[in-house]
Amino acid sequence: MSAKAKYRKDYKKPDYTVTDIFLDFQLDPQHTRVISKSQIARLNPEAQQLRLDGHSFQFASIKLNGQPFTAYQQDAESLQLNLSGLNLEHFELEIETLLKPAENTSLQGLYQSGDGFCTQCEAEGFRQITYMLDRPDVLARYTTRITADKTQYPFLLSNGNRIATGDMLDGRHWVEWQDPFPKPSYLFALVAGDFDLLQDRFITKSGREVALELYVDKGNLNRADWAMQSLKKSMKWDEERFDLEYDLDIYMIVAVDFFNMGAMENKGLNVFNSKFVLANPATATDEDYHNVEAVIAHEYFHNWTGNRVTCRDWFQLSLKEGLTVFRDQEFSSDTGSRAVQRINNVKILRTVQFAEDAGPMAHPIRPEKVIEMNNFYTVTVYEKGSEVIRMLHTLLGEERFQQGMKLYIAENDGKAATCENFVSAMERASGVDLTLFRRWYSQSGTPELTISDEYDERNHIYRLHVSQLTAPTHDQLDKINLHIPLKIELYDPQGKQQELQSETGLVSNVLDIMQNHQTFEFHHIYARPTPALLCDFSAPVKLDYAYTDQQLLLLLRHAKNDFIRWDAAQMLLSNELRQNLQRQQNGEQMQVSPLLLDTFHSILEQYQQDVELTALMLTLPKETEFAEQFKVIDPSGIHQVRKFLQKSIAEHLKALSLKIYHRIDLPEYRIERQDIALRSLRNVCLSYLAVTEFGNALVNTHYLHANNMTDTLAALAAASSAALPCRDNLLTDFEHKWAHDGLVMDKWFALQATRPDEDVLQQVTKLMDHPSFNFNNPNRLRALVGSFANQNPNAFHAIDGSGYRFLVEVLIKLNRSNPQIASRLIEPLIRLGRYDAQRQTLMKRGLERLAKIEDLSKDLFEKIEKALD
Ligand code: ZN
Repeated sequence: MSAKAKYRKDYKKPDYTVTDIFLDFQLDPQHTRVISKSQIARLNPEAQQLRLDGHSFQFASIKLNGQPFTAYQQDAESLQLNLSGLNLEHFELEIETLLKPAENTSLQGLYQSGDGFCTQCEAEGFRQITYMLDRPDVLARYTTRITADKTQYPFLLSNGNRIATGDMLDGRHWVEWQDPFPKPSYLFALVAGDFDLLQDRFITKSGREVALELYVDKGNLNRADWAMQSLKKSMKWDEERFDLEYDLDIYMIVAVDFFNMGAMENKGLNVFNSKFVLANPATATDEDYHNVEAVIAHEYFHNWTGNRVTCRDWFQLSLKEGLTVFRDQEFSSDTGSRAVQRINNVKILRTVQFAEDAGPMAHPIRPEKVIEMNNFYTVTVYEKGSEVIRMLHTLLGEERFQQGMKLYIAENDGKAATCENFVSAMERASGVDLTLFRRWYSQSGTPELTISDEYDERNHIYRLHVSQLTAPTHDQLDKINLHIPLKIELYDPQGKQQELQSETGLVSNVLDIMQNHQTFEFHHIYARPTPALLCDFSAPVKLDYAYTDQQLLLLLRHAKNDFIRWDAAQMLLSNELRQNLQRQQNGEQMQVSPLLLDTFHSILEQYQQDVELTALMLTLPKETEFAEQFKVIDPSGIHQVRKFLQKSIAEHLKALSLKIYHRIDLPEYRIERQDIALRSLRNVCLSYLAVTEFGNALVNTHYLHANNMTDTLAALAAASSAALPCRDNLLTDFEHKWAHDGLVMDKWFALQATRPDEDVLQQVTKLMDHPSFNFNNPNRLRALVGSFANQNPNAFHAIDGSGYRFLVEVLIKLNRSNPQIASRLIEPLIRLGRYDAQRQTLMKRGLERLAKIEDLSKDLFEKIEKALD
């Protein structure tokens, strides 16, 4: 395996650029011909060699200024043209390549999804179509001509505006598209096929009319409405909050079933995983509805943050992704519940992102070293990247943040920019010194804030002592101080919020943590207060403060900040978990503190004060969420203790939750905030009741009466995790109803993979042959294999190593067919440092087996090498 790393520090401007490119596609599943004619300009007068990226196609011919050209060298990844002596400033290159999209299971470049064709070019997929300067700082104007059979492929789509069409005598037709905005190759897209089309329009705030087109598989029109509504909502929001307007006359979205990621923001032609487009009450849960809206928004927002202003090189990925995630999170917060949105984002950060930073793939949001770029579309670049933008927003405030955005866009529109360009614009527009803050871009790892306090009774002064420390990470041993905004509130013993005052007057509730140790003094405090620390999770850090149970209960009842109230409940639960793991290890009896049980009871009793938050506070953290708090994870211990906690809470809340379950009545299914909250609380009640004596009858009825997928799935999940007698009947019923629909069956596959049963691995192995399963479909793989490896830690980490062996077998196959998905699925296996010696040995054995694969992909190589290092 030869895998060369690229380093951020090695960035060099390109010697040549492409100003215009004309692409001619003659589509056929086995024999697609691509002719690319590009106008090339030399930027560096000294340059004599032009190196073009390209692989995985058959190369047919090359012409320079219309003449056959032979002075080139070809290797596995590129074509190098020797132009010495020609002294060309401008020239035309014509390259012909031949592709077999039907055999392209990597789902990068041009491939077949179902009966149609589509492309995925980010990050480096364009080079699987033709030889190209495939780097994001080469921006060209694209004209694309597509020719294909008219009956099989009535729709031929690409970026920009449709400028010409025509029919041919042989039954084929052609369409020509032109995109007026110069763009990097990764934003190129092509789609061909037969679809159902949902059309609408949007009038921008300056009065321009934009045609909106949503393409879905035939028969799926009844699942397309929500996505279209979401698009219009996003367009409106971006105008209102960011003053950003859409710039083309047409915006197209195509839903495809075979897609490696969520979706792709190609200019004017987004290609989506159908999972993030299709939704109706019978097939989609409330969560699905939310995800569709958020992903549609995310891709739309990229039009400015990503497309109009793009990235100079791939190390800058967070420039567009962190910022766009921040924007989509703000959209969801403004249009839905800010607290729910924040809590769900924090859950992902604390579990998945903190784990990434603690593992072998740790990297800063702007990585320094990359072997396979696809490995860096990570929670760190996306979600932590968004947290960094959010901290900036906290430090600057909305107004100055928006001024910074305006400057950033004005300075970089039509260009390929860097993270530094962004921070610099923010700094200059706001006048806030961001010298120290910049370190978030170059330092990996999760900082820990250790906080202690003291109360000076005589002088009425309360002091917070804050120190910061970032532990060494796999990629970086030495850490320095960061600028961390710590948002706080103080509460008196009666739960009344205290003003924050220095000697001289009111002070901000955002503390600037910049040094190793800092002390903050608050005056006129007349009794020892309880601090609410890290309100709204104001920074992606771990907090170490010795809260007493009394303090947590006070915060839980009185804190104004929703996040703090939720987090207090989480901390109480974590304490219970930790104590019981200890008891279990000591062979003692497990127990739950009556205080916690009573608290939960009273939260539930008062659910009408805040239904959304009640549901979230009462949801027991998943095993994987609990696991993240331990340096060394005991998967089976956590499994057992969590079950015990669930059962204890369920028994204590039984009468009340039964009452509330029956009281909440939602006869009609509506996607509305209040209904979603009530449905969610009712289903939390159901999940507890499932493990009581009412469980089987209640869950069975819940399933039978469900008029929407949220309730159907809640019943199935409750039946499955509690292993109720009704379980197999319900699962079979669901299977028969939905066997024809892979997307819906993914929910069923995921449930099967997370069964608590001893023989779950045998079931999963058998399901790989289920008629609804398809090894080449990433959604199916994620649902079955991904859920098993990530959401069933007890079984995946079975001490006999069977879970690891299973995953390794799957990865060996996937390494060939789809290395990008292989590399996603290997994640739980590379975190070996978090497990006991016996499991580590077994995991290592699996990784070593993979390392020996003959044609090991760069994607897997990069992760395995780091994990074994
Ligand atoms: Zn994105």
